[in-house]
Order: sequence, then C-alpha cells, then structure tokens
Amino acid sequence: MAKIRCMCGNIVRDDDPHDTMYFLTDDEFDVEASGSALFGKATGVVRCPECERLWIWADDGVLTEYVKGEVIRPDEP
Ligand SMILES: [Zn+2]
Repeated sequence: MAKIRCMCGNIVRDDDPHDTMYFLTDDEFDVEASGSALFGKATGVVRCPECERLWIWADDGVLTEYVKGEVIRPDEP
C-alpha cells in the first residue's frame, strides 16, 4: 500500500477499492488474454475523491498527476 498527499491536501491510497483503477491502452486490451494477464499489463491509477485528480505511480517511484479540466466549448461558427 502506498499513500501520498494530493495537491488538494487529501491523502490518497493505492488500496482504496472505490478510487483505485487500472488503465489499458486499446492495443494492450485488444488481445486474446486472460483477465489476470491483462491486469498485469495495466497501469495503476488512483483518483483523489476530493478534487478528482488522477495519480499514476510509476515503477521508478515517479508520480504523474492529471488534473480535472474546466469546461471548454468550441467557438461557435
Ligand atoms: Zn486531491
């Protein structure tokens, strides 16, 4: 189990069943493989329940942060 303090101040943990997710690219997913094999290829992601940032823990310990964006609407023609 790992935990970090999110930029919003909340503590996020990689063992929270509601906010821990696993990401696969289309290429990684589009294969004949068992669920456990796919699980092994997936990237673990943790969502902060307070601010909805996504945190990715890399194997080398470096964290990548993705921040929820604001509503962006294309310019009217
Ligand atoms: Zn947060």
